[in-house]
Amino acid sequence: MKKLFVFSVILLLLCGAAAAEGVISVTATDFPCYDFARQVVGDCGEVTMLIHPGAEVHFYDPSPSDILMIGQSDLFVYIGGESDAWVDSILSGYDGDSPETLRMMDAVDAVEEEGHEHAEAEGPEYDEHIWTSPKNARRMVLALADRLSGIDPENAEVYQANADAYIAQIDEIDAAFEAVVRDGARREVVFADRFPFLYFVRAYGLDYAAAFASCTAETEPTPQTMMALIQRVNDDHIPVIYTIEMSSQAVAQTIAEETGARILTMHSVQSVTQDEFDAGETYVTLMWKNVEALREGLR
Ligand SMILES: [Zn+2]
Repeated sequence: MKKLFVFSVILLLLCGAAAAEGVISVTATDFPCYDFARQVVGDCGEVTMLIHPGAEVHFYDPSPSDILMIGQSDLFVYIGGESDAWVDSILSGYDGDSPETLRMMDAVDAVEEEGHEHAEAEGPEYDEHIWTSPKNARRMVLALADRLSGIDPENAEVYQANADAYIAQIDEIDAAFEAVVRDGARREVVFADRFPFLYFVRAYGLDYAAAFASCTAETEPTPQTMMALIQRVNDDHIPVIYTIEMSSQAVAQTIAEETGARILTMHSVQSVTQDEFDAGETYVTLMWKNVEALREGLR
């Protein structure tokens, strides 16, 4: 009890200015934005996740109360990819009274989606799953610390310290992935599922094959794709095929039956279930599970 009391007094001192002026409020779209924001904000304010646990991120549409909440926050944080196509029109609708915004794709080097054709006129489509590389996650956390420090300079040191603490944990994950790849017997992964891991495989120099490009809404791969995946697993004696979170696993089960490969989950961290949310899962805790899943797959 005593320990807890001392701890809260220290936090009150650290965030004194924010408490006096009303705590800072941040609205974040999806789980990565939310998790990074709550880590950096700490006890200096409130962070709200717009897209609720278990909800489908890719087809989200803001409700009138969501739009109101975004408008009333001190900072609105979003990824800025395909799933956030609604953001620009919402922001242009707050005439003169729009919140500060942080578009996370501006904080990293976005790369073009792979594996499907685009009409020339559409221009390049950038893959939105930037956080799947811990190296990008680090830059996203830094961007948050910078922006929050600008909005609430009195607490800049707190935001920077919180960011440094979380980045230290992210760097540990990054080092663990590097070690798993270095010690692995192979350098390729097969996703019998959607593939939100483009930034991840690029960060660690992994080769990949996937049933679907990025997070397409398709659910049935072509027979040619199925054949190619099965052949690759057999030819390369791949021990593990991956599915992502909240997957039907239908494609993976077919490939597993044909090849004898085990099915493991790689969590994209794009959204969490209510159970995961209630259990206090974070980007870091979920990525540690991915470290173990990758270790099994590269044997
Ligand atoms: Zn996705």
